[in-house]
Amino acid sequence: MAVLIVEDLWCELPDWFSSRYQVIQEPSLCNELEKIRSAAPGIRALVVRNRTRVDRDLLNCLPNVKVIGRLGIGLDNIDLKACREREVVVVAAKGCNANSVAEYVIAGIFQHARFLSACDTLTRSGLWDRKNCMGHELHGKTLGVIGVGDIGQRLAIRARAFGMNVVAYDPYIANSHMLVQDFGVDLTSLEDVCRMSDYISVHVPLTTATHHLIGHPELSVMKETAVIINTSRGGIIDERALLSCLEQSPQRFAILDVREVEPPAPEDPFRLLPNVILTPHIAGVTHESSQRVAEFIFRDIDRVLSG
Ligand code: NAD
Repeated sequence: MAVLIVEDLWCELPDWFSSRYQVIQEPSLCNELEKIRSAAPGIRALVVRNRTRVDRDLLNCLPNVKVIGRLGIGLDNIDLKACREREVVVVAAKGCNANSVAEYVIAGIFQHARFLSACDTLTRSGLWDRKNCMGHELHGKTLGVIGVGDIGQRLAIRARAFGMNVVAYDPYIANSHMLVQDFGVDLTSLEDVCRMSDYISVHVPLTTATHHLIGHPELSVMKETAVIINTSRGGIIDERALLSCLEQSPQRFAILDVREVEPPAPEDPFRLLPNVILTPHIAGVTHESSQRVAEFIFRDIDRVLSG
């Protein structure tokens, strides 16, 4: 049985898996339907990241596929209804990169509060400028978490360890008791989270309900010094609204790991703003998480294919 991997794996293929299956690694095949079709007859499993659009057209190219493995967690690039109709199982690496994303957000918050790389540049230039290298403490600041699932919970717990207050919005959260009682997270409305927070971090999946969840109304109630962090999906924040908010309020700041279009166009206006940090969708990508995600996905594919 053959397994086709059409995006980068970013780690070694587990030996136990390659000894059991014929694995075809074509990391740039992605949305090349005709090439996928020609590899198709024996393909029982397809492995993707977030760039491949798994829709009816792609499924039609793979008549024998039984399982789609998603190297990661967001399923917004996969037409789940079409997969269900074709009885194709979709497996995702739930929780496997959550520590990495939570640590990225903490790193971003520290980067904003203490800007060590800018201090390093100043100091290397020969200046000993203690006043302009003065940052902010996190202790006592408020972090707003929108979506308190695997990532949001890990982030909330880490932020509490730094002495931050944590307010959160998630109308569907299952274990709110643990977060409220054990970790002192204050669950409230979306508007309150936006109004009260010094740092606001988004951790909901992209669905029709969360598309542009953060737009003009939410941005307009945020503090004049608010920092908004998006590691979730670009479509959750209305980028045009965010752009004008950052242009009009230079004290506001954004850390954007994900964008509405990835990669963004060369003339991306966010590149020109001093009050943003931009990264190329790497919050969940570390050496540890890549290995964990791959192991998890290949185990699940093996379970499906071996019945
Ligand atoms: P999760 O499913 O564990 O948690 C999502 C949470 O969002 C749930 O608690 C759910 O109740 C909540 N939610 C759903 N709809 C909501 C709404 N309308 N309003 C408020 N809350 C809502 O998912 P997770 O593992 O925490 O991941 C969250 C998202 O992060 C993923 O869907 C993915 O898009 C993104 N992600 C990005 C990276 C990266 O590298 N940048 C890596 C991993 C995940």
